[in-house]
Amino acid sequence: MRLSRFFLPVLKETPADAQIASHRLMLRAGMVRQEAAGIYAWLPLGFRVLKKIEQIVREEQDRAGAVELLMPTLQSADLWRESGRYDGYGKEMLRIVDRHERDLLYGPTNEEMITEIFRGYCRSYKDLPKLLYHIQWKFRDEIRPRFGVMRGREFLMKDAYSFDLDEQAARTSYNRMFVAYLNTFARMGLKAVPMRADTGPIGGDLSHEFIILAETGESEVFCDAALVDMGAPGPDVDFDGDLQPLVDARTALYAATDEMHEPDRFADVPEERRLSARGIEVGHIFYFGTKYSDPMKAVVTHPDGQDRAVHMGSYGVGVSRLMGAIIEAHHDEAGCVWPEQVAPFGAGVINLKAGDADTDAACQSAYETLSKAGRDPLLDDTDNRPGGKFATMDLIGLPYQLIIGPRGLKEGKAEVKIRRSGGRHELSLEDAIARLAEGAFADG
Ligand code: ATP
Ligand code: MG
Repeated sequence: MRLSRFFLPVLKETPADAQIASHRLMLRAGMVRQEAAGIYAWLPLGFRVLKKIEQIVREEQDRAGAVELLMPTLQSADLWRESGRYDGYGKEMLRIVDRHERDLLYGPTNEEMITEIFRGYCRSYKDLPKLLYHIQWKFRDEIRPRFGVMRGREFLMKDAYSFDLDEQAARTSYNRMFVAYLNTFARMGLKAVPMRADTGPIGGDLSHEFIILAETGESEVFCDAALVDMGAPGPDVDFDGDLQPLVDARTALYAATDEMHEPDRFADVPEERRLSARGIEVGHIFYFGTKYSDPMKAVVTHPDGQDRAVHMGSYGVGVSRLMGAIIEAHHDEAGCVWPEQVAPFGAGVINLKAGDADTDAACQSAYETLSKAGRDPLLDDTDNRPGGKFATMDLIGLPYQLIIGPRGLKEGKAEVKIRRSGGRHELSLEDAIARLAEGAFADG
């Protein structure tokens, strides 16, 4: 992409109403624009990152054996009357009436709809297990939308739903999602800690929130510090095998959100590992048994010939919130510092003197080679001043910058800057291009 053709409305001023770094940076770097309270347009730079996050979530869901579909944003109120949640959900639900006076709503979540779909086709234990997900916009009329996309009203969520014969089988599906989440967040450069979460009136111990520790997080959390650096199992996990040991290794250590916090048990954690902190909830997984299948009559015939309500769980990831969480974890004074896997472009090429024939030619050659190598470069071919170009490139936080100007070119040289470390390498132009093309700077 050439910057002259792109749409990158960078702001010079720091927006006054943005309280946290990620919100400020997303506005300054022209990634999103607020259209109404808690409702954002995703501008091209932000949209690129959103799509990368979404794709990682998708790949890890698929790897774990979940199957993608797409349900609509609008739902019939009658579905929610069946489950009994229509009145209970309260003012967070956006209620809509169509021209025939039928009650609709903009879905805040999809348990009812997926249960309706399941019961329409699946009747037998032979149809189980099923693990279905979609990545779709949700609307919740949050009382206090804030922190940009972190707590929006319209936001993108991955929500998966599992259907199993009984609690034992449901636990297997739960474990799949638990492990998939560890891998998903690790791939984005995040250390997500699974923490025991409130199961509400249903009870039981099968609910975990995945929390990114951050001072600006809205949740108060308590955990064993050993969990933070435990890492993820990685892509070689056998999702058809026994995942319980991987789950147990993590749930054995203390980690709880404030609703579930037990100070007595926390006191047993060795003092130097006792961590009380704030965190951002990026995912939430939940086993809720027959809460929806009972009232909505989603039953399956068991091998013994009896019909019983199917056991369900739901598993959410805040896809758009993750963008804020990643920036909170990866930024500095100058701007975003994207992990490569979610960076909006792979590298920036800065032309220090657009209009100078040799510099233009060198930049063009770099741009073509990096494009062909699949590095997805952004070429700053504008006639802005070098200082402005450096500031913009730092602000948007691409992992690598290739800086090409007439002075260096006289000696056949160019400079590579590593955004994260600030490290600079002066190299011959050919070497610089070749090494960026092959990803040779990946270690800094
Ligand atoms: P919270 O406690 O933050 O209000 P929740 O518990 O209501 O979230 P869930 O119903 O568990 O949220 O939704 C699944 C995921 O969707 C959450 O883990 C979070 O990452 C994301 N999410 C929920 N509400 C919002 C929101 N208003 N804006 C952005 N993301 C959200
Ligand atoms: Mg939650």
